Amino acid sequence: MSREVIVAAEWFDGERRHGAGPTTLVVEHGRLASLAAGDQAADLAGSSVPVTRVPFLMPGLVDAHVHLFLEGHVTDNALRSAHLKKPVEELTQTARASARRSLACGVTLVRDAGDRHGINHRIRAEARGSRELARVRSAGVGVKRPKRYGAFIARDVEDDASIRGTVAALAADCDEIKLVLTGIIDFDSGAVTDQPQFDLAAAQLVVATAREHGRGTLAHCSGAAGLAIAAAAGVGSIEHGFFMNRETLGLMRDHQIAWTPTFCPVHFQWAQPEAAGWSAATIGHLRRILDEHAEHLRLADGMGVPLLLGTDAGSMGVAHGTAVGEEIDRWLEAGVSLGRVLTAATSAPRRHFGLPATLAPQAPFDALALPASPFTDRSALGRPLRTWAMD
Ligand SMILES: [Zn+2]
Repeated sequence: MSREVIVAAEWFDGERRHGAGPTTLVVEHGRLASLAAGDQAADLAGSSVPVTRVPFLMPGLVDAHVHLFLEGHVTDNALRSAHLKKPVEELTQTARASARRSLACGVTLVRDAGDRHGINHRIRAEARGSRELARVRSAGVGVKRPKRYGAFIARDVEDDASIRGTVAALAADCDEIKLVLTGIIDFDSGAVTDQPQFDLAAAQLVVATAREHGRGTLAHCSGAAGLAIAAAAGVGSIEHGFFMNRETLGLMRDHQIAWTPTFCPVHFQWAQPEAAGWSAATIGHLRRILDEHAEHLRLADGMGVPLLLGTDAGSMGVAHGTAVGEEIDRWLEAGVSLGRVLTAATSAPRRHFGLPATLAPQAPFDALALPASPFTDRSALGRPLRTWAMD
């Protein structure tokens, strides 16, 4: 369909909501040709052009941190381990289903934060032009240290030469380079207990090599020691970032390093401790970690740190698509306004990825229609009427 007229009763442009009367948008060949106040359908559509009337229109949602090849809704540890051993073809089916589920939930774009087979690249290619799959920005395979955390999403690098060679090779088709800078939280002790995988010089080498080849970086990172390295190395974005502190946030603001706080996987562990069999003490750690994370998110928002909403979908209990609504709730609970949360879930990631804004004149049309304004009915976000994904 080359021309379509959309009349939205209310809309959100990625930064601001527009609620005073209807707006008419004309989409031609996948681009927003014009946008005018009032219901102009009768004038602009004529007799042959379809008119879509929607209560609310906004840019398509972005999940800035997913792993398409992992099944987040599976919460049994044995089944999750068995999943990782499946043949690549089966894992590719899973990834395809994840991209389909995402789009059905109004998520028009996901950033895949790594899989060791590079299945994310394949789904990225399949999604182009698709009416069924969310578009994919792919980090391909990440880099990690031998015998350290992250074998399911990254490959090993050892000395500087191997960092240079591996990052240069990955940069050929990875949209961003994923650096597994630290391990994960040890929930039983309520801390990140191992040392960062990369020191500052090595992290800087990853960032510099990626940049030489025209790529940004995203760092899997939690714990004060790793966060200080990530911020000083100037990575593009810090993923997870548990045990954040004001000093690191200050560096992130100064260097405009984005933060994707991914509450979902830790919140699941707290909300359903029986899945992993956590003790009362561990549940207490989880609650404290989440509360401190929320405090730092609010602080980051006030300080002007670029924020990206990402779920870590594919992690235990974090289902592709629906997790975005859950992550939004965590941010609202933290005290971030809905407008700011939706910016982090729409325009901020697109800007961070270097993609054109959407719902701007002449921009590729990437949008989500809802049955009501989420500003008056939060649940409307969970009931998408229609999506338009862009290439
Ligand atoms: Zn992840």
